[in-house]
Amino acid sequence: MDAINPEANRCDVTPSAALLGVGAFAGARSTSTGQASRSGPTPPTPSSAAGSAPATRAPVPLAPPEAQPPDLKLPEAVARKAGWAVVGLGQLALEEVMPAFRECQLSRPVALVSGHPEKARKVADAYGLEPQNIYAYDNFDQLAANPAVDVVYIILPNSLHADYTVRALKAGKHVLCEKPMAVTVAECEQMIAAAQQANRKLMIAYRLHYEPLNRKVMELCAEKALGPIKTFSSSNGQNVTAPNIRLSATLGGGPVGDIGIYSINAARYCTGEEPVEVTAVAHQPEDDPRFREVPESVAFTLRFPSGVLAQCDCSFGAAPSRRYRVHCAEGFIDMDPAFDYRGLRLSLKQGDEKAELLIGQVNHFAAEMDHFSDCVLNGKDPRTPGEEGLADMRVIAAIEEAARTGRAVRVAG
Ligand code: NDP
Repeated sequence: MDAINPEANRCDVTPSAALLGVGAFAGARSTSTGQASRSGPTPPTPSSAAGSAPATRAPVPLAPPEAQPPDLKLPEAVARKAGWAVVGLGQLALEEVMPAFRECQLSRPVALVSGHPEKARKVADAYGLEPQNIYAYDNFDQLAANPAVDVVYIILPNSLHADYTVRALKAGKHVLCEKPMAVTVAECEQMIAAAQQANRKLMIAYRLHYEPLNRKVMELCAEKALGPIKTFSSSNGQNVTAPNIRLSATLGGGPVGDIGIYSINAARYCTGEEPVEVTAVAHQPEDDPRFREVPESVAFTLRFPSGVLAQCDCSFGAAPSRRYRVHCAEGFIDMDPAFDYRGLRLSLKQGDEKAELLIGQVNHFAAEMDHFSDCVLNGKDPRTPGEEGLADMRVIAAIEEAARTGRAVRVAG
């Protein structure tokens, strides 16, 4: 990782008097009195001036100062870790994010924000957090006065992302906000403006930009390893059980913002282009009470300036399937599964040959959080800033309009 520079951890050590007497390295020995000498081998003492005293043992030469151990076993310099406040102790926070801190090098949890104090106390206890660092939503702004908190991680329902992000930025904190960034383009723009005004960093939690297989696909696509991309196809489905924030229109639910966004983002990072036009159809079954407020399934097509067409679908009523295929002129790239937390698989097909690329996997959340901590601690720009979330939100808004009107919709640029 950039932040841990082995060169920076090397120490130039001037030999100390204490080390000279230790005798733990070649050539070092001690005198019979245990006294250390800086002058190198001590000349032999005459047996006795009078010739009557018992013979003393020959003095032992000491290591000269220049003969110090070449490799002092000193601990590595401890990197400072950024302090994180986790906001919203739901499924993602408790099952993935909090455990992921254990794998972080640069990030540590220091505070929690929750509407349920008893739950928050248990979580704080389990992770060794101070009870005074537990906040509720009504005293959220008091995070400003807590110097241990560098970063606020917003893991709330989508409709609350903008408000709490802006408040955290105003409190002087850097913000990692879960996807989708917000529920409207205007909210995303306000969040970006708030980060600029506060001079704080804003990153959107696109974890696949921090894991090696999707990054390998980005590389292969950028170098046109299988020729130019012609089409892209992707499905992201799961069965959602009520009650769930994903089924609530008020909380910003719906399949496109929740899971369709993975296909949108992948189509954008594979092509390296922004789509210009969108068509979409949605299905909202009347006989399934889960889908009173949001569609069950949405299928959409994105048209890119180069002519690439991306066909994608997402569903809250389908068995889990999270995959994409990049169809190139000379072969195709498959990621299946592509969007899961673990167990991703990448394969390529060219002519009759098919190969799976076996690349070591990482904890997506730990890698993502450490990337942002590195940015915060070392003044770097995040790989997925607010502008990345805004670009997806423009596409989502166009998909929603296209599904509502049945017309092709231009993506606002
Ligand atoms: P949950 O419903 O499990 O958790 C949301 C939490 O938000 C609740 O537990 C609650 O925490 C808090 N909350 C505050 N106000 C409300 C409210 N009015 N209604 C409901 N909850 C409220 O959702 P998830 O953890 O699954 O998702 C949270 C966010 O994370 C979403 O934006 C989602 O898109 C994103 N996500 C991202 C993933 C990724 O891979 N990057 C994967 C899954 C989700 P408390 O009780 O502590 O107040």
